[in-house]
Amino acid sequence: MSQSLIVAKFGGTSVADFDAMNRSADIVLSDANTRLVVLSASAGITNLLVSLAEGQELEQRAYLLDEIRTIQYAIIDRLQAPDVIRQEIDRMLENILMLAEAAALATSAALTDELVSHGELMSTLLFVEILRERQINAEWFDVRKVMRTSDRFGRAEPDVDTLQSLCAAQLAPRISEALVITQGFIGSESKGRTTTLGRGGSDYTAALLGEALHAARVDIWTDVAGIYTTDPRVVPTAKRIEEISFEEAAEMAIFGAKVLHPATLLPAVRSDIPVFVGSSKDPAAGGTRVCNETPNPPLFRALALRRKQTLLTLHSPNMLHAHGFLAEVFAILARHNISVDLVTTSEVNVALTLDTTGSTSSSDSLLTQALLTELSSLCRVEVEENLALVAIIGNNLSKACGVGKEVFGALEPFNLRMICYGASSYNLCFLVPTPDAEEVVRALHQNLFGA
Ligand code: ASP
Ligand code: MG
Repeated sequence: MSQSLIVAKFGGTSVADFDAMNRSADIVLSDANTRLVVLSASAGITNLLVSLAEGQELEQRAYLLDEIRTIQYAIIDRLQAPDVIRQEIDRMLENILMLAEAAALATSAALTDELVSHGELMSTLLFVEILRERQINAEWFDVRKVMRTSDRFGRAEPDVDTLQSLCAAQLAPRISEALVITQGFIGSESKGRTTTLGRGGSDYTAALLGEALHAARVDIWTDVAGIYTTDPRVVPTAKRIEEISFEEAAEMAIFGAKVLHPATLLPAVRSDIPVFVGSSKDPAAGGTRVCNETPNPPLFRALALRRKQTLLTLHSPNMLHAHGFLAEVFAILARHNISVDLVTTSEVNVALTLDTTGSTSSSDSLLTQALLTELSSLCRVEVEENLALVAIIGNNLSKACGVGKEVFGALEPFNLRMICYGASSYNLCFLVPTPDAEEVVRALHQNLFGA
């Protein structure tokens, strides 16, 4: 069975309403090897739940709950026999209300995860019902039975070994009996409390389950027909990439291309499982295949853009001929749970950007007063916000000749605030002022990929 198993994941827009769910059901049923389906919450639901988890006043709670009910009832209302499932969803809504009341008294990360998990719990219940009305032997599976994670609520890490053995014991047997529908994004820690893998984590769930079940492929169905040379909203002539390597796709995800959750490819790479990315609105349009090796990897593959970068420049005359300064800086950052993204150094300066990948709900800067105070005791600190990171993804970039000319030739009119090149042969990246960012991407795209 597992030799040809496909795990299919559908994102929020692919299960947004009755029609979207049916389009996704068509995709599932079009390939008999698809035996496990992983779903996000219906579009919009997670944001509403996060808002409730932040602790709201009575009227706002009622309003948000109503919004959630409206989205899910719109699906129920189109079922042939809506009564039983309506009761189940009503029970979920009661739970949500109770948890939202608790959050209004005192918020907590554990409570937030318990609350937001209801989005995926509801979408999967509804999807099973849609399949059953189409006479399919579909089964709802609570992924928390197998997705064991750490107790870092909001951004839990999976315990891959436990996941593997729990899947073999509990999930694999179900898959051989029925088409199994389960939740992305959520898990549980060793005491049984609900956790989440971080926003957008359903892709990661699909890849983790695919790995645990030795799937032949993981299909990620979203609202874009694959991975493009850059964001088509910025460059309308961006081209779809038919095949891309794990390394390149991982770089793209990390550097801000929003197609895949950055962690998705870890299990895929580890276990060499190809990942397909396509649009559930238009499956016939095809998509992008992400796999171990691609024929003739090009020097330049794609451009990614990540906004809201914070650059810290640290100045310390003591650094001259001294050692241990960088170690101290990194130790301070580590104590504040901040990982560094880009770094450049000179004799008495260090410039670095803070890594914001995977940070949860708010997109606020990670920079806190406590961190600044601690750094300032060591050196002079300059902070620049409002920068954007442009990353060029490619192959052998650090080994080829002429890369600098081709890249920077097109960027003459722009200020490049910082350049990182040489650490990875898969990327070259630099910071530009945010107002220039899209222009820079367009100029580069034109130069590297043509019109
Ligand atoms: N529903 C979750 C979110 O909106 C997880 C996901 O969609 O992947 O972040
Ligand atoms: Mg999503």
